Amino acid sequence: MNIHEYQAKAVLKEFGAPVAAGVMITSPEEAKAAAGKLPGPLYVVKSQIHAGGRGKGRFKELGDDAKGGVRLAKSLEEVAANAAEMLGHTLVTKQTGPAGKVVNRLYIEDGADIARELYLSLLVDRGSGRVAFVVSTEGGMDIEAVAEETPEKILTLPIDPLAGVTEADGEKLAEALKLDGPAREEMPGLAKLLYEAFTGKDMSLLEVNPLIVMEDGHLRVLDAKVSFDNNALFRHPDIAELRDESEEDAKEIEASKYDLSYVALDGNIGCMVNGAGLAMATMDIIKLYGAEPANFLDVGGGASKEKVTAAFKIITADPNVKGILINIFGGIMRCDVIAEGVVAAVKEVGLKVPLVVRLEGTNVEIGKTIINESGLNVIAADDLDDAAQKIVAAVAAAA
Ligand code: GDP
Ligand code: MG
Repeated sequence: MNIHEYQAKAVLKEFGAPVAAGVMITSPEEAKAAAGKLPGPLYVVKSQIHAGGRGKGRFKELGDDAKGGVRLAKSLEEVAANAAEMLGHTLVTKQTGPAGKVVNRLYIEDGADIARELYLSLLVDRGSGRVAFVVSTEGGMDIEAVAEETPEKILTLPIDPLAGVTEADGEKLAEALKLDGPAREEMPGLAKLLYEAFTGKDMSLLEVNPLIVMEDGHLRVLDAKVSFDNNALFRHPDIAELRDESEEDAKEIEASKYDLSYVALDGNIGCMVNGAGLAMATMDIIKLYGAEPANFLDVGGGASKEKVTAAFKIITADPNVKGILINIFGGIMRCDVIAEGVVAAVKEVGLKVPLVVRLEGTNVEIGKTIINESGLNVIAADDLDDAAQKIVAAVAAAA
C-alpha cells in the first residue's frame, strides 16, 4: 500500500525525522489560512498524488508553459493562486503514465533554502536478504538514470538485523554523501530513526528524494515516498487508515476485498490462473506469442466458487480486455470449482470476448463436463503453449 507524501512525513516525524511544517488542504479556499500558519517567507505548494516526478510533471489542462506539480510561492496570495490552478487538475508525470492523476489534495509546506540535494532510500535488498540503505550524492533526480550512467555514485549498505544501524554504518552513509558540519553529526541519528520507522511499520520502501542539506547546514527530509507491506498491515491499524482508495486502481480494490492477488496491466488478454508461478509463466508465454497480458491474477490455492466468480467479473469489467485465458493446474484448487465459478460469472455478466480454457489436474474431467454442458462458447486448450497460441489468435481474429 502506498500513502501520500504528507502522510509519510507525519509518520517519519513520529520517529523524530526532520521535516518541514506543513498543512494539507483539499480546496483552494483553505490555501491562505493554511499558509498563514507557516513561518514564510517561502512556501511550497505540493500536489499529493501517489506518483513521483511531480516537480517536472505538467498539468494536462494547463498546457506545457504552466508550472509543474511542485511550486514555490513567496506570498500567501501566490500560494492561493497556485492552489486554485492545481487543485482538481490532472497531473501527468513520468510515473503516472499518459492518463495522469487528478490532484485532490495539496500539501502547503514551509520552504527550505537548499544547499545540496541528496538521495536516500531504504528497501528490502534481496541480494543480501537484509534491509539496505541506498544513498547517492545525486539527489532530486531520477535515481534510475544515476544507476545507469554513474553507478559509482551510489552506495548500497545492507544493515545487520541483529545489530541494527551502528555508528559505523552512520559514518559510512555520511562519508558517501560527502557531509560535513551539522549534517555530518546528524546523519547517524537520522539513519537510525529511518531504519526504526522502516522496520517498525513494516515498510517495503522508504524513499527520500531529495534529502537536503539546507543553507544553515542541517539535514531535512524534503520528499518522502513510502510503501507498506500489505501482508503486515493488520499489525498497523494506524497505517491502514491512511489508505486513499481514490489513488488506487478500482479493479485492484475490488480484488483485495476477495483476497485475490491481482495487478492491473496495460495489455488486452485477461488471465485467470492459480499460483503465482503459473501466473507469471502464463504472462510470459502470452508475450512470447506477441500479445500483452491485461493483468496478473492468482486466484490462490483453495479458492471458493465465489472467489472465482469475483475474479472473472473483475477481468470482464476491464474494457481493455479483448480475450480471456483461464489456465488452471488443479492441485489443492479443484478444476470443477473453477468451472462452476466461471459459468456462474458468465451467467451474471455475459461473455463478449473469446475465452480459452486450459484445465489440468484434480477433477479435470468434471470441470470440463461442467463447461461443455454450460453452453458457453469456450475454446478448449490442451496445454499452456496451445492455450496461449489460441487466445492470441482469437483476439487477433476478433480485432
Ligand atoms: P517530486 O518531483 O515528486 O519528486 O517532488 P519533490 O518533493 O522531490 O520536489 C521536487 C523539487 O522541488 C525538489 O527536488 C526541489 O528542487 C524543489 N523543492 C521542493 N521543496 C522545496 C523547498 O522547500 N525549497 C526549495 N527551494 N525547493 C524545493
Ligand atoms: Mg522527489
